Amino acid sequence: MVRKPALELLTLARRIGEPSAVVLGAGAAAADIAAKAGEYGAAKVYVADGAEFTDQLVVPKVDALAQIAKANDAAAVLVTSSGEGKEIAARVALRLGSGIITDAVDLEAGDGGPVATQSVFAASFQVKSKVTKGAPVITVKPNAVAPEAAPAAGAVENVTVAFTGNAAKVTSRTPRVSSGRPELTEAAIVVSGGRGVGAAEGFGVVEELADALGAAVGASRAAVDAGWYPHSSQVGQTGKQVSPQLYVANGISGAIQHRAGMQTSKTIVAVNKDPEAPIFELADYGVVGDLFEVLPQLTSEVKARKA
Ligand SMILES: Cc1cc2nc3c(=O)[nH]c(=O)nc-3n(C[C@H](O)[C@H](O)[C@H](O)COP(=O)(O)OP(=O)(O)OC[C@H]3O[C@@H](n4cnc5c(N)ncnc54)[C@H](O)[C@@H]3O)c2cc1C
Repeated sequence: MVRKPALELLTLARRIGEPSAVVLGAGAAAADIAAKAGEYGAAKVYVADGAEFTDQLVVPKVDALAQIAKANDAAAVLVTSSGEGKEIAARVALRLGSGIITDAVDLEAGDGGPVATQSVFAASFQVKSKVTKGAPVITVKPNAVAPEAAPAAGAVENVTVAFTGNAAKVTSRTPRVSSGRPELTEAAIVVSGGRGVGAAEGFGVVEELADALGAAVGASRAAVDAGWYPHSSQVGQTGKQVSPQLYVANGISGAIQHRAGMQTSKTIVAVNKDPEAPIFELADYGVVGDLFEVLPQLTSEVKARKA
């Protein structure tokens, strides 16, 4: 399966050159993945296989990406801005002797290389920057662009990677319990709850709105520290970084540490009973009101419009 952020990278890559895709450790699924990459504009698809990609942490992927970028004189290397993606990107940049830009929210062609846009200081400023040394390595936040199909050859080239070894090994795996909702960091819509939700049961109204919208559920640190929602759902400086098309903050005051995890969301909606709550400074739309009255109405309106 090809995840949406990979198709977003191909869509952006088309703006700066002829895209290639890299498929690592996919085994028998590689052919289907390569076909999908071709549909979204990959002229070439480099495929490397080996147990190293699944049995070890990031180093084999770094070996492969650096080797492929060097051998093919890549104009740029784009990686998704996940925790793993950023670690891989930093190591690849070091290997290539290149500059790196992280957490880009947009990308365009420029004189002498791609220009990346980053959103900084609680989305108060947009910064445009360009790498001046080597093939730029750029990590792009999920949802930076809507993926657009643009069929290309998708010609598969099998690559044998020279592994450098020295990687941390995976010793066991525990499958994550699935909520059936989209992955928080990749979701196009995130509906979050904070201390204002009042109790674990209070998240019911947040989940109902999320399900009506097909969204992931997030939470503030106050809510997860209170044990009302799992830590894996925490959004913020010490939680997950999300950048959806729509972020709905419910009963969340808007502390700087929370903003740090959601400030690059395209549209922010806040529901808070305190008109002075700092979240309203950041929100595109705000509702001053009790979330237990507002959310059920919003949910039934969403359902009615979908029907
Ligand atoms: C080093 C450090 C790292 C941190 N990392 C994070 C992080 O990653 N993520 C994070 O979120 N925080 C983080 N914090 C904590 C952060 O500073 C805040 O304490 C936290 O975000 C507050 O959560 P909250 O907005 O849910 O709660 P509060 O600030 O208590 O706000 C609750 C809000 O709910 C509103 N409300 C109450 N009842 C209702 C109702 N019925 N209807 C509507 N609105 C209602 C209130 O008006 C209030 O604005 C960190 C703090 C530190 C020091």
